[in-house]
Amino acid sequence: MGDKPQQMLDTIAAEARYTAGMTGRAQFSEGVMRALSAVDRGAFVPPAYREQAYDNGPLPIGNGQTISQPYIVALMTDLLELTPDSVVLEVGTGSGYQAAILAQLARQVYSLERIRELAEAARKRFAKFGYTNIEVRCANGYDGWQDRAPFDGIIVTAAASEIPPALIEQLGPGGRLVIPVGPPYGYQELLQVTRKPSGDIHTRKILGVAFVPLINEQDTDDATRR
Ligand code: SAH
Repeated sequence: MGDKPQQMLDTIAAEARYTAGMTGRAQFSEGVMRALSAVDRGAFVPPAYREQAYDNGPLPIGNGQTISQPYIVALMTDLLELTPDSVVLEVGTGSGYQAAILAQLARQVYSLERIRELAEAARKRFAKFGYTNIEVRCANGYDGWQDRAPFDGIIVTAAASEIPPALIEQLGPGGRLVIPVGPPYGYQELLQVTRKPSGDIHTRKILGVAFVPLINEQDTDDATRR
């Protein structure tokens, strides 16, 4: 019977070692690994993909979108360097898996998703599993979430052609933005953008990645459609 969730963690740890030269981290923090073991990825993938839920690859979640590869979820979470006091914004709720991981590590998670069906399915999952520190809004994440800013961490789980200016503005002092940047289905690079306490912005390239595109379209808000 193998322990598939444990194998997933072992694979993530192994890939962290292989990629240490690029990422600057040979292992992820204990907190990140604990968060990954606390959230059942199987509960966030469609029933047809349950068998593959613990493989280290992306999987379709409907509406042409994907749940990211577990190693990438771990890496991006680690790059945010969250503390139990952190307030974090996610752009691209998708299945809700990444938000659930963040919710283990941060005080409050805000997550934006432009596809209503996905936003609602994620909300239902969070209610079912008793998460009380995740708020999902159906809106264009390109604009961030002004009412909830500033954020200690911002994670974008879709690839932007450029860093959305609002996200830089909504990053608090000492905060980190982790975002894939590059053309749709072309070469994308994962960036860690840090706002120094002085206000200066520092950008570090981490590694090449493949994400679904961030779609900058205005008309996706609950408020404007209901
Ligand atoms: N973090 C997700 C993976 C999401 S895939 C998970 O753990 O499952 C990327 C998601 O970003 C998709 O659901 C897509 O609909 C959403 N997205 C793309 N552009 C967006 C935008 N401008 N605002 C909000 N969400 C967006």
